[in-house]
Amino acid sequence: MAKTEKHRSKAALALETQLARYREMRDFKTTAEPRGSKNGSPRPRGSSLPFVVQKHAATRLHYDFRLGWNGVLKSWAVTKGPSFYPGDKRLAVQVEDHPIEYGDFEGTIPKGQYGGGTVMVWDYGKWEPHADVDRGLKEGHLKFDLHGTKLKGSWALVRMHTRDAHPDKPNWLLIKERDEFARQEEEPAITEEAPDSAVSKRAIEQIATDNDRSWQSNRAQANEPAARFDQTKNAKRTAKRTSTPSLNSLPKESFPRFIEPQLARQSTTPPNGSDWIHELKLDGYRIQIHLHQTGKARNRSSRVALLTRKGLDWTARMPSIARAAEKLDLESAIVDGEAVVLDEKGATSFADLQSAFQDHAKMQLTYFAFDLLHLNGRDLRGLPFPSLRQHLTFRAVVIRGSNRNAFKNKSLL
Ligand code: MN
Repeated sequence: MAKTEKHRSKAALALETQLARYREMRDFKTTAEPRGSKNGSPRPRGSSLPFVVQKHAATRLHYDFRLGWNGVLKSWAVTKGPSFYPGDKRLAVQVEDHPIEYGDFEGTIPKGQYGGGTVMVWDYGKWEPHADVDRGLKEGHLKFDLHGTKLKGSWALVRMHTRDAHPDKPNWLLIKERDEFARQEEEPAITEEAPDSAVSKRAIEQIATDNDRSWQSNRAQANEPAARFDQTKNAKRTAKRTSTPSLNSLPKESFPRFIEPQLARQSTTPPNGSDWIHELKLDGYRIQIHLHQTGKARNRSSRVALLTRKGLDWTARMPSIARAAEKLDLESAIVDGEAVVLDEKGATSFADLQSAFQDHAKMQLTYFAFDLLHLNGRDLRGLPFPSLRQHLTFRAVVIRGSNRNAFKNKSLL
């Protein structure tokens, strides 16, 4: 064996050992996280060492601080995130080395997987060690400069001398050194001041709902060659990912039976971030419209079913809505919405709705469509709300009809 070849295989072996622990903890059939290339990524040269900080909303929100070194990302989980105030000594738990490609990863890790949750590229850039890195890692003292989009100046990672129960997860402290970038204690925290993605500018909630690298087939992306930490490339890719997909690109499916509706969940506080949409609370009956049509124009035959949130067929109880749905010029669709009665002020009245059914009162039923779950043989349930709204004018559909003939036949009740 030639000398260079021998050297290379030794380096590859070392890399494999470093990544083995990372791979052991993940199932790459279900997670979109990168596996790490078999032969390793080219060793960074000179001062162009990459670093990345990934904000990770898992069981607990934390920041994964990663320094590219020796073909891997040396990684620390920093619970509170980095701070520009030198008095803040942030606990940084060293975790398994990650593949270099991981630095590009922004998306969701499926629930139940190791680290399940949402990952954001919170900051990235170059790092410049002040002294020998291998020695610093071994001795537990690393000083370096960060040239990130958010983190700048001189920093230190110092290993604590604690005899803890996790020898494979040693505790370090991440500390800002005093320099022109250091901040006073009373100055705003960088994690608060700049909470969003350094790459896509998205908030963590938006990444979670966009489902960009988890919902769609992402194998190709996950197997892309090594990370470049290249902003323009990332930005372009993100723009492509978040644009509205055409109907043809969505997964095909045969016409589904009743789909369990998503129900509202109670929360003690409103959600954070600018990516939430406020909707009016409608007090009515949740109704799923199933529409299946064959033929065209006069020869068209329509089958409509109105299903309650438990899947009961209430088509006969709301014939006005059923007739209105038949007029939609669609091959097949499943619409999620709410049947209500509006009072003179335009508010929904549950009492009026009930009397529409019980007392045969002449109430006009209104149907608010708020989601399209299936359209013309395609599954739209993975689409985030903004894409759906952009893509289909359907969302604004409000079906009105008089319910006065609904219960002439009492046996229906
Ligand atoms: Mn993490």
